[in-house]
Amino acid sequence: MNQSGQPYKDITGTITYLDHYNTKGFEPITLDSNVDFTIIINKERYNMNIPLNCTNCQLHKTRKQVVVGRGSIPADILFIGEAPGISEDTIGLAFIGEGGKLLDYMIQEAVKNTHPVSYYITNTVLCRPPENREPEPTEVLKCRENILEIIQEVGATVFCLIGKVAERYYKDIIPYYHTIVHPAAILRMGDAGSDLISRNIKTLTEMIREVR
Ligand code: SF4
Repeated sequence: MNQSGQPYKDITGTITYLDHYNTKGFEPITLDSNVDFTIIINKERYNMNIPLNCTNCQLHKTRKQVVVGRGSIPADILFIGEAPGISEDTIGLAFIGEGGKLLDYMIQEAVKNTHPVSYYITNTVLCRPPENREPEPTEVLKCRENILEIIQEVGATVFCLIGKVAERYYKDIIPYYHTIVHPAAILRMGDAGSDLISRNIKTLTEMIREVR
């Protein structure tokens, strides 16, 4: 069961991952952990009709793997970020680097102000752009079919676009959405980013209140 009491389709892998994540107290996840990430990643993907061998855009040439997302299916909230980074490309789950940990922290803080919710996180492109560059418009466009499939599978009623890139490409696709500052951008600001963390938590709190 997810936090809202709804049954998951099959997210055993996600639960294992999150258990590991939580017991680590948001410490960095390392590849030498005793968690079998291969099993987790496969479980995560079974329920998505996404071609894991997709070659629709040039990003397939440099990626290690397609990163579909991370979280509950179905979910109350769908987050769309920018693109997988090196940790995500290596492990195969979205938002598991430092930015992902900050996002989970902000969601947890917002949940304390409101009520439990389930969420899924994906990106505008499912493959890592080389050197973490911004995804190009053609890449985002070619990946859109995959993202629409994810939107349908997750069935969220509330949407959150993370950062300017997601907003640029999905503001005309999703009729009603919230935006938050990308956690990776906040981390780059150091101490100056603390106000943005508070602002994001406020937005997330308002957003979660919309989940019935
Ligand atoms: S980014 Fe999307 S469209 Fe491009 S290869 Fe990866 S899955 Fe396919």
